[in-house]
Formats: sequence, structure tokens, C-alpha cells
Amino acid sequence: MPKLKLALYWAASCGGCDVAVLDTNEKLLDIAEIADIVLWPIAIDFKYHHIESMEDKNIDVCLFNGSVRNSEQERIAKLLRAKSKAMIAFGACACFGGIPALANLTNGSAEIFERAYVEAPSNDNQSRVFPQTKTKVAEGELELPEFYDTVLALHQVVDVEYFLPGCPPPVDLILKVVDALAKNALPPVGAVIAAEKTLCDECELKKEEKRITKIYRPHEIIPEPERCLLEQGIICLGPATRGGCGQRCIKANMPCRGCFGPPAGVIDQGAKMLSAVASIYDVKDEEEINRMVEEIVDPAGTFYRFGMSTSLLQRKRKGD
Ligand code: SF4
Ligand code: SF4
Ligand code: SF4
Repeated sequence: MPKLKLALYWAASCGGCDVAVLDTNEKLLDIAEIADIVLWPIAIDFKYHHIESMEDKNIDVCLFNGSVRNSEQERIAKLLRAKSKAMIAFGACACFGGIPALANLTNGSAEIFERAYVEAPSNDNQSRVFPQTKTKVAEGELELPEFYDTVLALHQVVDVEYFLPGCPPPVDLILKVVDALAKNALPPVGAVIAAEKTLCDECELKKEEKRITKIYRPHEIIPEPERCLLEQGIICLGPATRGGCGQRCIKANMPCRGCFGPPAGVIDQGAKMLSAVASIYDVKDEEEINRMVEEIVDPAGTFYRFGMSTSLLQRKRKGD
């Protein structure tokens, strides 16, 4: 069988998804055995024009990590789409918007620039210099990508064949994809490479159907090791999160933060989790409901930490 052509790309990304590929350790050699890597900006110095000069559908699989938040990322997503037979949204940012999409809770680029370059700058910036898409210098005109107001998941920009969630995706699932590529046995188009059911369905911690009267942040309580964390008052997104991660956080006695996105059949992970919390919280009157709401620090960041772009809300209404 001829070697596959594989591209790896990072858009609005922290780099963790690329590190997860490196975490396959010696299995990376197995990847090299079945595939020639034609683009991997973090590791190999390819240029965009190398990709542009390829015929369409010349790349077999593109692992695209990171969300889309500027014009360069959108351009390269569309370029790689044209050149690839299959696009895999790799990691929570590409699948759902991820952490970068929490920026959708602002009014957009002007507010973000004000924060980053004036209120909390890394350099002295009293003259309020902001990034510009075009800047004239003696040598000519410099260009920067346009920074968008709204962060998008990959499938909101181009068609995507497969989704591999996680922040970052776990090594065993990455290897499962590599194995499927090697055997030419990828799942049906549209598949999420993880479990169908929720993390709670897999979790071995004891559930006693107890109601809670107080919500704790993880640092405020030492949980009993065998008991469901949510039933101890710690917000664990297990009821609203797809299983398949190997219960990575739960096994470290930490609550799930939702990086595998919603399970099959659930559109809005945050709304599903809000409903799970409301159903377990023991409240009798409006005063107690208000107290419960107050106890949830940063509700949007807690319930939509990874899924803002693909939630029903998608973003804050501008101007509010
Ligand atoms: S999914 Fe997580 S590890 Fe991957 S780029 Fe996004 S923030 Fe980083
Ligand atoms: S809420 Fe969390 S701790 Fe409780 S069963 Fe679900 S995954 Fe496990
Ligand atoms: S337990 Fe939740 S947050 Fe942790 S890796 Fe699994 S899905 Fe992601």
C-alpha cells in the first residue's frame, strides 16, 4: 500500500494538541511508517505555497487542531479542505471552539484589544498602539491577518469528516485513528471518535442519588475518594460530557470540565449541565435558588468552557 499523505495544522491553539501527537512517543515511528507528513508547522518547515501547489484531494488526512479566529486560519482551513480527502477536527478547540471561544463572551475584537494592549499590556503602550491588518513601512506594506469578533469551530468554516475531542485528545484515541488509517478502516463520515454515552455512564464512583445543599469549588473541599463528585457538591460535567477519555480527571480525583463535548443527541452541553445541577440541588424557595446561583463562580466559563462556539448561544449579543 502506498504511503498516506498526512497534514497537521494548528489554528487558534495552545500547542497542546501537537504535543499530544508527540506524546505517542515511539508510536510516532509507526505513524511515519504509514504516512508522509506534508505539513506540520510546529515540527517541520513547510511553506503554504507547497500546499497550494498540490492538486486537490492530494492529502489523505488532515488533523486540524485549534479553533478559527482570524482570516489566516480561515484561509488555511479552506486550503487544507480543498487539498484533503478527510479533515479531522482534532481536539476540543477544533471540535467546539474550546478555550479560545470564551472570547465570544466579549463584544469582540475591540474589547479584546483594549484588554490585551491597554489594560493589561505586556509592553508599555501609553500611545495605544493596536495591531493593524496593513502597516506601511519604508520597505513596503506589512500585513497581519484580520482578527475576528467571533471564534468558530472548524466545521463552522469547512466540512469536516471526523471529530476527535479532548483537551488534548488522549494518546490511545490518537493511536486508534492511526490504526484505522493504516487499515483503511475509518468510521462513517461524521463520527465522533469517542464513546456515545456520557462520562457518568463509565464512571465507577458511587452514585447514591443524594441531593446537595452547597456547591464547592475543587480547592474548597477534600472529596471522599469513592463517591460521585457532583453528589459531594463539586460541579463535575460528567452528566453532560461524552465518555471515552479514560476518566482522566476523575481518576485524579478532579471533576470533569467537559473537554469531550456533549454526548450524542445533546446540542448544548452547558444547558444539559445546568439542568443536571438544578435537578440535584435541594432548594425549597427562591432565596435558596438565588444562593445556589451565587455559589456557581463563573457559570458561563464553567458550563461552556469548551463548547461556546457550538452552543445555542454561540456568543454574547454585541453591545450588551
Ligand atoms: S484542545 Fe486543548 S490542548 Fe488542544 S489546542 Fe485547544 S486548548 Fe490546546
Ligand atoms: S458526575 Fe462526575 S463524579 Fe459523578 S458519576 Fe458523573 S462523572 Fe462520575
Ligand atoms: S474527565 Fe472530562 S475534562 Fe477530564 S479528560 Fe475526560 S472529558 Fe476531559
